[in-house]
Amino acid sequence: MLCSLVSTPRVAARSSVWRFARAYSSSAKEYDTLVIGAGPGGYVAAIKAAQLGQKTACIEKRDTLGGTCLNVGCIPSKAMLNNSHLFHEAKHSFAKRGIDVGEVKLNLPQLLSDKDKAVTGLTRGIEMLFKKNKVDWIKGAATLKSANQVDVALNSGGSESVTAKNIIIATGSEPSPFPGFEIDERQIITSTGALALEKVPEKMIVIGGGVIGLELGSVWSRLGSEVTVVEYLPAIGAGMDAELAKAFQRSLSKQGIKFKTSTKVIDSEKRDGRVFVNVEGAKNGKRETLEADVVLLSIGRRPYTEGLGLENVGITVDSRGRVEMADEQFRTAVSSIRVIGDVTAGPMLAHKAEEEGIAAVEHITNGHGHVNYNVIPSVIYTHPEVAWVGKNEQQLKEEGIKFRVGSFPFAANSRAKTIDDAEGMVKIITDAETDRILGAHIIGPNAGEMIAEACLAMEYGGSAEDVARTCHAHPTMSEAFKEACMSAYAKPIHF
Ligand SMILES: Cc1cc2nc3c(=O)[nH]c(=O)nc-3n(C[C@H](O)[C@H](O)[C@H](O)COP(=O)(O)OP(=O)(O)OC[C@H]3O[C@@H](n4cnc5c(N)ncnc54)[C@H](O)[C@@H]3O)c2cc1C
Repeated sequence: MLCSLVSTPRVAARSSVWRFARAYSSSAKEYDTLVIGAGPGGYVAAIKAAQLGQKTACIEKRDTLGGTCLNVGCIPSKAMLNNSHLFHEAKHSFAKRGIDVGEVKLNLPQLLSDKDKAVTGLTRGIEMLFKKNKVDWIKGAATLKSANQVDVALNSGGSESVTAKNIIIATGSEPSPFPGFEIDERQIITSTGALALEKVPEKMIVIGGGVIGLELGSVWSRLGSEVTVVEYLPAIGAGMDAELAKAFQRSLSKQGIKFKTSTKVIDSEKRDGRVFVNVEGAKNGKRETLEADVVLLSIGRRPYTEGLGLENVGITVDSRGRVEMADEQFRTAVSSIRVIGDVTAGPMLAHKAEEEGIAAVEHITNGHGHVNYNVIPSVIYTHPEVAWVGKNEQQLKEEGIKFRVGSFPFAANSRAKTIDDAEGMVKIITDAETDRILGAHIIGPNAGEMIAEACLAMEYGGSAEDVARTCHAHPTMSEAFKEACMSAYAKPIHF
């Protein structure tokens, strides 16, 4: 992805452009660092820059800060996952736990308003952090004009010019469209529409069995919709470890979600208030028409650069529309302009964007920064949760690396049994010679929290034995992690 460092003459050119920009625009606002986009990449970069003494502004065109993640992504989806899980538990599990609550009814407007409350609280929180750290929020849409100048079409009307020594592009991503599907966010929806449906659809088709489709499919399935996931590949789960993907699909099927894997989606037609989706078998070509009230398109996201004016400054994008980096310090072809987050290469995850935001700013201020792309965890916040980091078995086989596998089922973990939530397992993959942890794959309760233990161990080059010899509190789910590590280098005690 990255090529060699930008040469010294370019840095010299940057300072002369900066002098030019200052002279050219005496009325323009001037900053040390200017960030475009206030998602988790941009707002974190802006706060870090200000903390490191840079005069900083962040340009955001949305009316609230926090980008996709806080407004229409991670936060609202997790709020709805949590409350739909509680609803499902109240309906299907409370009675057997000895809790009689009478008839359990869904109050969808309240569930949506609770989600909105979480979003509002957190987006306002970022506004407060901006104030606390003295980051100026410029409300409007930014267009690059030169290596050090950005014009902003202000949300309040009119425009202003802003200059900065350093510019960071963090404009994020948007849902990818699908030819043959006209998005109206009512019947044919993206993830954004799926966070705001006014009634539970009787039938929902989810196109794409990746993280977002499975999370939001789960939400509506728990709330009463008959959900069918259509996936082109033979397995669901965005390239997760094959053993976990199978277990995961089995578990979601038991919950009532239907799957059509190895199935290609052709097109759709809206008729009589319903949507008809034509599909064919990816292997046998057998055609079929599926019918639903609502179709959720979740085939992935694409970088967002509309109106940014990359062409004005000579910054290029790759074949997938991702802004190209010229070096490992996040510089683009224009050395004063850096790029981070979803809009450039790498996994489209909030925590990856945040890490890059901090590292990019540290490169600007200290000359060094660090992101370990081998240790970026992925989590699917369904029930059971799925989380993984590092390499899976398929990848290691392809790379010809000799490995050992240690696993431990939650069915043998006392805490999981105590709370009757014991589906799934922890699987640790280690280097066969050194015992160093190469990957961790968890399906089960608390997987999303537990994966942090794997990340920490891997960041410090830890071995399975290192983790297994670390005292874990009892009774906790994390004992399953310790026992999986024991099983990778010796034997588990409780299984
Ligand atoms: C439903 C859903 C659930 C998700 N769940 C998770 C999850 O659980 N965990 C996780 O890690 N990730 C999750 N993601 C992905 C996560 O939201 C993104 O990876 C993350 O938001 C990327 O951050 P970013 O800063 O790169 O860009 P964004 O968050 O997309 O922010 C970019 C911002 O830039 C602004 N902008 C764009 N162009 C301009 C311009 N020219 N001028 C001014 N402003 C501009 C936009 O308005 C936007 O606010 C989820 C995404 C979705 C859709």
